[in-house]
Amino acid sequence: MATGWNFHELYLWHDTGRGAMFFPPGLTVEPGEHAENEGTKRRFRNLMEVSGLTDRLVSLRSDPFSETDLARFHTRDYIDRIRTLSAARGGEAAELTPFGPGSYDIACLAAGGTFAVMDAVLEGRVANGYALVRPPGHHAERDLGLGFCLFANVALSILKAREKHRLARVAVVDWDVHHGNGTQQAFWDDPGVLLISIHQDRLFPMTSGFATERGEGRGAGATVNVPLMPGCGHGAYMEVFRRIVLPALHAYKPDLIVVSSGFDGSVADPLGRMLLHSGTYREMTRLLMAAADELCGGRLAMSHEGGYSAAYVPYCGLAVMEQLSGIRSPVDDPFLPIVSRYGGQDLMPWQAAHIAALAEGLEARIAAL
Ligand code: ZN
Repeated sequence: MATGWNFHELYLWHDTGRGAMFFPPGLTVEPGEHAENEGTKRRFRNLMEVSGLTDRLVSLRSDPFSETDLARFHTRDYIDRIRTLSAARGGEAAELTPFGPGSYDIACLAAGGTFAVMDAVLEGRVANGYALVRPPGHHAERDLGLGFCLFANVALSILKAREKHRLARVAVVDWDVHHGNGTQQAFWDDPGVLLISIHQDRLFPMTSGFATERGEGRGAGATVNVPLMPGCGHGAYMEVFRRIVLPALHAYKPDLIVVSSGFDGSVADPLGRMLLHSGTYREMTRLLMAAADELCGGRLAMSHEGGYSAAYVPYCGLAVMEQLSGIRSPVDDPFLPIVSRYGGQDLMPWQAAHIAALAEGLEARIAAL
């Protein structure tokens, strides 16, 4: 069975303006593009096309989310505010999260694109799939856009998919380098969603993502935060998968695995301070596919989040898509022979100790859910 792919030209038209991210107020440094601009997404899409991979995937259409769909998580006040600003000249969803005219509709389409992939996977129309959406979603909270995110694409799509498909258990693996705070908020007391967020400690938001945040009430134990120190490479992430992600998934036994897929953990990312390369993303995808095969009939759906290196996001994305589809394109990652040999790619003893401490008691907590 083929792999699903969701992309829409309008995702690129979400306008984050200039000078709003890296550049302080005042006439000191020349304004430049916002970190979250359309470039990395366009280049990922373009490499998919020139590699020949796009032609071999099943294109999945996005139907925009309605206000009812958004209200499964977001407050009516917040939805109204974004829609009103979007209908005028745009505005700010929150700090760092500017948007232009029409972004409400584009964000509804991005949430719909994420759902389209999940839905196709759950209906068995595709084996697995990827939604290359924009704006991203995992930082968006109930009543607040945050960190370039307007609406919570992954959380909203899970809530809708649960209504339609009666899923008992969904696991989210968030490998974006930032904390998946919005997804965490959405399912904080919900044992029906296991969230595993692997992120750089206190990168963004700086006030959440701690290992001590584990969920509450019936959801206590279903939130797994894996905050890592800067400088983790391939070896450290493989250890996180071996000690935390895979045991957690096996203990939880989900009906569907969803990935919040950011490529800002890459060695070339301007915002993150990790060392990952396309081979890491390929291997994390392989491990999740194997877990999905074993646990839930292979059902695996991914939604794009961050990733800000114009040169490197496309190669990381292509590696994931090659692995998902089982099709190797003729394109090689030209950076891989160099960056995979950087010092720091191997698991360091202090990283192993930190990861072992995070893994302590994990399976028991999840098995109790
Ligand atoms: Zn991110």
